[in-house]
Amino acid sequence: MQLLKNHSLKDYNTFGVDAKADFFVHVKSISDLKNLLSNPQFTSLPKLFLGGGSNILLCSDFKGLVIHLGLKGIEELGNGLIRIQAGEGWHNFVMWSLEQGYNGIENLSLIPGNVGAAPMQNIGAYGVELRQVFVELEALHISSGKTLVFSNEACLFGYRESIFKNKQKGNYVILSVTLKLQTNGIVNTSYGAISEVLREKGIENPTPIQVSDAIVSIRKSKLPDPVEIGNSGSFFKNPVVSSPDYDHIKKQYPEVPSYPSGEGRVKIPAAWLIEKAGWKGKCFGNYGVHKNQALVLVNYGGARGEDIYQLAQEIQASVKEKFDIHLKMEVNIIP
Ligand SMILES: Cc1cc2nc3c(=O)[nH]c(=O)nc-3n(C[C@H](O)[C@H](O)[C@H](O)COP(=O)(O)OP(=O)(O)OC[C@H]3O[C@@H](n4cnc5c(N)ncnc54)[C@H](O)[C@@H]3O)c2cc1C
Repeated sequence: MQLLKNHSLKDYNTFGVDAKADFFVHVKSISDLKNLLSNPQFTSLPKLFLGGGSNILLCSDFKGLVIHLGLKGIEELGNGLIRIQAGEGWHNFVMWSLEQGYNGIENLSLIPGNVGAAPMQNIGAYGVELRQVFVELEALHISSGKTLVFSNEACLFGYRESIFKNKQKGNYVILSVTLKLQTNGIVNTSYGAISEVLREKGIENPTPIQVSDAIVSIRKSKLPDPVEIGNSGSFFKNPVVSSPDYDHIKKQYPEVPSYPSGEGRVKIPAAWLIEKAGWKGKCFGNYGVHKNQALVLVNYGGARGEDIYQLAQEIQASVKEKFDIHLKMEVNIIP
């Protein structure tokens, strides 16, 4: 375990922001992690746990200890139960699961990042969320060093939410995640363009692998690749509003897209609101709003995190002014 000082985090966040960490360490085992957390040199320092860095915005240099989690391993426990260590790449794990004949997470193909961060915001895409296959996770309580198990219910999953983003924010480090996958081959192609893409390929009864392939090609055509343009995917969550609020917007904008969200509430795509507020494609030197995806803020190279954060706040303010809707940030802001 090598402790690096004043270390650049540019290669550790998909926004490609060149912030520095006072201390940086890559951790490969739980015992190393425990030793590190109990080391008096670090106990009082702010800590940032990092997986793939695909859901963070670093607004300045990090005055503390960044712990890059490299815990590896996938264990089949029987009956479709699989325990995955936090440092495994999410997409690699999805590919592994499909190769083994499992299904259930093919719709979550190509989501960047590591398994340990997946429960943080209950990752979701194409009509599937992690919580649908999630059984439990093991987490280390940072201040006491005790290991605890959180069941599905205890994680308080919601739309891009969990207890670890709210009440227990910063208190735990997730060590491993246990999922229950199926081998029945049942797939969900009802969302977005999946069935269209499969039809174009002449596939009538798709296998989970074919659904995964379709999703990978849709995502590649729609989302900017962070390797080419720094970004963290969707910057904002899609807001859920009451029916009367939705009707009010619809009166002015009959074309407003919407999805039922239960209990008489309606989800409106944040991308539509941002586009209508005039931000799509706006470029401010080396950062801006992506030209095809209004929900994606981008770093064209060399942008500062604080500038991107300020842009996000300006977008929030203008959507609030125009539609009276508060857009919540999905990306974790690291001040
Ligand atoms: C191009 C692109 C597309 C995306 N598409 C989607 C999508 O379709 N659906 C979706 O849900 N998300 C999507 N995301 C967001 C992102 O991929 C997910 O949120 C992913 O789970 C983040 O994983 P990570 O390892 O990169 O997390 P990081 O960015 O490293 O960390 C995110 C947060 O979790 C904390 N954290 C990380 N690991 C741990 C741990 N083991 N224990 C405790 N805390 C931890 C970090 O401190 C930070 O606060 C996308 C991102 C990009 C760049």
